[in-house]
Amino acid sequence: MERIEKIEKIAKKRGFVFLSSEIYGGISGIYDLGYLGFLLKKKLIEYWREFFVRSEDNIFEVETSLIMTEKVFEASGHLKGFVDPITKCKKCGSAFRADQLIEEKTGMFVEGFDKDILTKILREKNVTCPKCNGELEDVKIFNLMFSTSIGPLAETKGYLRPETAQGIFVNFKNILVSTRAKLPFGVAQVGKSFRNEISPRQWLIRLREFTQAEIEFFINPEEKEYEKLKEYENVKIRILSREMQKSGGKEEEMTIREALEREIIPSEYMAYFIAKEQLFYESLGIPKEAIRFRQMLPEETPHYSKGNVDMEILFDFGWKEVVGNAYRGDYDLKRHAEYSKTDFSYVLENGRKIVPHVIEPSFGIERTIYAILLYSFIEDKERGWDWFNFNPKIAPISVCVFPLLNKKQMVEKAFEVFKLVRRNFDAMFDKSGSIGKRYARADEIGVPYCITIDHQTFEDNSVTIRDRNTTKQERVKIEELIEKLNKLLNLRSN
Ligand code: AMP
Repeated sequence: MERIEKIEKIAKKRGFVFLSSEIYGGISGIYDLGYLGFLLKKKLIEYWREFFVRSEDNIFEVETSLIMTEKVFEASGHLKGFVDPITKCKKCGSAFRADQLIEEKTGMFVEGFDKDILTKILREKNVTCPKCNGELEDVKIFNLMFSTSIGPLAETKGYLRPETAQGIFVNFKNILVSTRAKLPFGVAQVGKSFRNEISPRQWLIRLREFTQAEIEFFINPEEKEYEKLKEYENVKIRILSREMQKSGGKEEEMTIREALEREIIPSEYMAYFIAKEQLFYESLGIPKEAIRFRQMLPEETPHYSKGNVDMEILFDFGWKEVVGNAYRGDYDLKRHAEYSKTDFSYVLENGRKIVPHVIEPSFGIERTIYAILLYSFIEDKERGWDWFNFNPKIAPISVCVFPLLNKKQMVEKAFEVFKLVRRNFDAMFDKSGSIGKRYARADEIGVPYCITIDHQTFEDNSVTIRDRNTTKQERVKIEELIEKLNKLLNLRSN
C-alpha cells in the first residue's frame, strides 16, 4: 500500500478525518474532523497564532462573517474573475477542469489561459473524457463561489466567502478606528472559506470547504524598509524564480536578503513573512528540501499585483502551494472605497492622506495538516508499529496515563494522576492490554509522553514519563509532573 493510502486509512480509523455526510454517499471535497483531527487542527491554529500573531506587537485578529453580500464581490472582482475553465463530456456528462485535464494529458502548463485557446488545445491534442473517452464540449467559464439568498423573501443575494481577506478589507475603517493602529500593521483572520471546486481531489488538498489563516499586512508603499527584517534576513530558503522555471532549472538556495536583492521577492515586508513561513514549516517537521518558494509567472499573477510568491511543499503527488504570498497593492481598499463610497484613506503623521498597500500571506490549514501527517508518519520496522512524530506542540493528545497493572489500587492511583493531568493537557487514560500494547497505541496517534503508575509510585510518589521518540523513561515526582510536562511540551522536537 502507498504511504499516503496508509495514512488516509489511519486518519479515518483513529478519528482524524471523515468524509462529510458519509452515510448518505458523502460530498467530495468536504470533510469532518473527528476527535484527534479536531485537536490537531485546534493546536496547529494556536501554534500559528503564537508564531505569527502573538509574537508581533502590530498584528490584530478579527472574525468576520462567512456570508457576505453580493456587492462585496462585485467590488473585489470575484463575481467576474473568480472562475475556472470547465468542460463537460458529451457522452457521460462528467465535468472537468479544462486546464488540469490538458496538463495531465499533455504536460503543457496552461493555467490562466483563455477559454477559446483551451478549447483549441483540447481539439488539437485530441483530449477526450478520462472516464469514458467521449468527446468534450467547448470550454466554458465557471464561477467558484457558492451563492445563497438571504432573508425569507430572498431579498438579498449573498455568497459564502471564497477567502477570509474580504471581511478584513470591508472592515478596514472599523478596524483602524477601533485599534488606533499605525502603519505598518496587520489584521489576521483564521476561518472557513468556500470554493465550489470543479474537481476536488487529493484528499485534503483541493477542498470545497477549507480553513485559511490569513494576514492582511497594511503598509505605506513609500516606506520600503522593514526594520524587523534584520532578525530574519539570513534565513536560507530554496527559491524557484521565473527564470529558473523558464529554463527548466532547479531550485536554488539563497538567503532572504539575496532573494530581495535579485528582486525575486518584491518587498521587505513579504520577505519577513516568507522567512517566518520557512521556520514555521520546518518546526512542524517538514524537511528543508521539501519546502520551496516559487515566484509566480506573470500569467498566474493578477494585473494589480507587484509580485506573488507561493510557498510549496513536496507531497507524495508532487509540489503544491500551501501558502500564497501576494502583493495586493491598494487594489482591494480602492475598489471597496469606490463601490461603497467609504473613505479608506489613512492619514500620515505629516497630514498627507494615502491608501495603504497590502501584503498578504495566506495559509491553507488543511494542506498544512496533510503535510504534517505525511512527514510525521514513521514506518518503523524496528519498533514493530508505525507512529506519528508530531511536534509536541501540535500533537492531538499530549499525554497518556497508564497503570502498569490492571489492579484496583494501581488503577485508582493512575486515574487520580490522569485527572490532574487532564485539567492541564489533552490526555487519555488506558488500562487495557499489556503496557507494551498501550505504548504502541499511544505512539500510533503520536502521543509525545506516556506516564505510568507502578509499584514504586506507592513508595515515593513518583511516576515514569516515557518519551515517544527515544522510548526512554525517567522518574518524576507527582507534585512536579505538571511543570515537567509543560516544559517538555513546549520544546520543539523537530
Ligand atoms: P489562494 O487564495 O488561492 O492563493 O489560496 C490561499 C491558500 O488557501 C492556498 O495556498 C491553499 O493553501 C489554500 N487553498 C486554496 N484553495 C484551496 C482548496 N480548494 N482546498 C484547500 N485549500 C485551499
